[in-house]
Amino acid sequence: MTLAIYPGSFDPVTYGHIDVMERALRIFGRLVVAVAVSEGKSPLFSVEERLGMLREAAKEIPGIEVDSFDTLLVDYAKRRGAGVIIRGLRALSDFEYEFQMALTNRKIYNEIETIFLMPSEQYSYLSSRMIKEIAALGGDIDDLVPPAVRESVFKKMKGARRK
Ligand code: ADP
Repeated sequence: MTLAIYPGSFDPVTYGHIDVMERALRIFGRLVVAVAVSEGKSPLFSVEERLGMLREAAKEIPGIEVDSFDTLLVDYAKRRGAGVIIRGLRALSDFEYEFQMALTNRKIYNEIETIFLMPSEQYSYLSSRMIKEIAALGGDIDDLVPPAVRESVFKKMKGARRK
């Protein structure tokens, strides 16, 4: 059975990510959702926090393993014996970056294929960045992230405001 990896920042996980996970599982049966530990992006949540939110969300979805990696994605995929990378495609604006990354990954490791999945239209405008922006301005994110994530986001924002 082909193992698929869904890598990303997941800062935090949204219903858009979860939609992609469910679609991937319909094809692959086994999916590793892997948090990329990249210092460059100055995330709102620590890796541990992001893993915790993902694990909570994945509890409801059989077939998902949650992990993190701090190497090149293709090296991680090799180590895990994965043949497929899953990425989500929302709008055309995702395309150029994703195209470049998929071809670069294939250049480094020819055994890996990247498969793009489109979320349900209702999530096709949704990003983790947007969640943080809406929450920072006190907006409603109930329909966009799981309840536990919503709580963590508001807690984090309150903490940040107190500092
Ligand atoms: P990265 O920093 O790797 O882009 P993200 O957590 O932002 O990490 O996204 C991980 C993957 O999930 C990317 O392929 C991204 O396009 C996809 N993604 C993010 N939000 C959505 C969404 N609302 N619908 C579908 N795919 C999404």
